[in-house]
Amino acid sequence: MALENQVIGHSDVPFGAQDPRTQYPKARFEPQTQDYPGWTDAMQPRPDHGESSYIGHHRMTGFRTLITGADSGIGKAVAIAYAREGADVAFTYLPEEEQDAVNTVQLIEDAGSRALALPGDLQDESFCREVIAQTVTEFGGLNVLVNNAGFQMTTSHGIEDLTSEQFDRTFKSNVYALFWLVKGALPHLKPGAAIINTSSIQGYHPSDSLIDYAATKAAIINMTFSLAESLGPRGIRVNAVAPGPIWTPLQPPTQPREKIEHFGEDTPLGRAGQPAELASTFVLLATAESSYMSGSVIGVTGGKHLA
Ligand code: NAD
Ligand code: MG
Repeated sequence: MALENQVIGHSDVPFGAQDPRTQYPKARFEPQTQDYPGWTDAMQPRPDHGESSYIGHHRMTGFRTLITGADSGIGKAVAIAYAREGADVAFTYLPEEEQDAVNTVQLIEDAGSRALALPGDLQDESFCREVIAQTVTEFGGLNVLVNNAGFQMTTSHGIEDLTSEQFDRTFKSNVYALFWLVKGALPHLKPGAAIINTSSIQGYHPSDSLIDYAATKAAIINMTFSLAESLGPRGIRVNAVAPGPIWTPLQPPTQPREKIEHFGEDTPLGRAGQPAELASTFVLLATAESSYMSGSVIGVTGGKHLA
């Protein structure tokens, strides 16, 4: 059963004023693993992307958006929200994630928006260029770029376990791709455009098992600051979202099974977050509702502090 079905309509408080500790089931996750990159349907329970709860309010009518890695997880929740707010949504995914991507296309189109699904590897500069070109050709412009795709893999014995191949893959996927996409998008971004990067609490509080990943997430925060400085005078805002533990296909293939069982329990709210709980933050940062916000990092962490 989808998580959202367990959430809505079971409480005597108005929707929107739920107890955040119990808004989603708190029970331990079943220890589970998957091959990389992970698929939504294989997750137990299935994550909630807001399929039956996100209500749009025409806040992005006419927007042309590009989200990397929106086949699943946080990106998928953002794609649903943007489409229901009236935006056209282009998104990237890895070729082996076709099944999840088809479902995202369906959800965007069900909202009455245009979808453009772009399979490929963001470690490749030419693919990053192609993604921008195809989005602009298909939609006639670009208002919002969401750099959300990310690679992580835990290593059990710290830096000795970390290979150069993995280090390279993590930096190429998380940092170089952002650099190439921003550079490619810039000629098309007009005043009023927004860039939103996905960092992590790991960018502030790195784990010894995620040395390479945490370093990329710190780099993304730093680049968010410098890009906000340099693009502010052109009327382009740049912000970042720093999630805490969120229940997405990123986790089962890349964490030890025993960690999955307790995933998110150590947050003040006592549970993992769901992708749906990040969507409204990405909507806020995309629109003029956040017109004086640039160079900000918003934590969505279940109460863990970023500083
Ligand atoms: P996810 O696995 O659902 O999404 C990540 C996507 O990144 C994948 O679907 C894949 O399409 C894409 N991707 C990875 N490497 C790629 C590459 N080389 N080329 C093209 N696409 C590639 O997981 P998610 O948790 O929704 O991740 C979204 C973002 O959130 C990531 O940047 C991740 O680091 C960040 N984040 C997640 C958590 C969490 O707990 N889930 C916490 C903090 C930050
Ligand atoms: Mg995926």
